[in-house]
Amino acid sequence: MSIKLPSLPYDYGALEPYLDARTMEIHHTKHHGGYVSNLNKLLEGREELAKLTLEEILRDIRVVPEEIRQGVRNHGGGHLNHSLFWQIMAPGRGGEPDGRVRDAIASTFTSFSGFKDKFTSADLTRFGSGWAWLGVNTEGRLEIISTPNQDSPLMLGLRPILGIDVWEHAYYLKYQNRRADYLAAWWNVVNWPRVAEFYTRTLEVVGGRK
Ligand code: MN
Repeated sequence: MSIKLPSLPYDYGALEPYLDARTMEIHHTKHHGGYVSNLNKLLEGREELAKLTLEEILRDIRVVPEEIRQGVRNHGGGHLNHSLFWQIMAPGRGGEPDGRVRDAIASTFTSFSGFKDKFTSADLTRFGSGWAWLGVNTEGRLEIISTPNQDSPLMLGLRPILGIDVWEHAYYLKYQNRRADYLAAWWNVVNWPRVAEFYTRTLEVVGGRK
């Protein structure tokens, strides 16, 4: 398996003024790029893992030989987490979700604003580096979790449809220590139509809410 750094679906400056171009460029080329090249080094010559997808590997990390397990967890998680993150943002988006995902959010979290409050609290209470996620659990229900470092939500049985990076490298140049300001700005670039696609696609795999 040789992984390539995916291109962003927009320019580095496209999410201004909410996310600045310099942060986006460093984040994509240096941070995500670093996870990809480290992951490729770890997986080189590991024929036993070649027939599995990275998603399958992270869902059951014990399949990875112990001497490279932590590395694959960090760099493989980093690659998948960022690959999703770039896609669930877009210029000129924000607002509220539509359709099926909106209904599921409203019924699971009482309302869209109830969801935002819970998601915000998952972000703000994550101590140190990590992520907050909205995803579909093994029962087909929406759930909010946060993960430390680059742990993938797949390791906890959650298939993510939305996530926010709360590592300082995601916001420090523009927001310094003000994580809450970064988060408040981030809602303006959430690409809800894309999240809705991920939701529909995930339900097809998981089987949907009973
Ligand atoms: Mn990051």
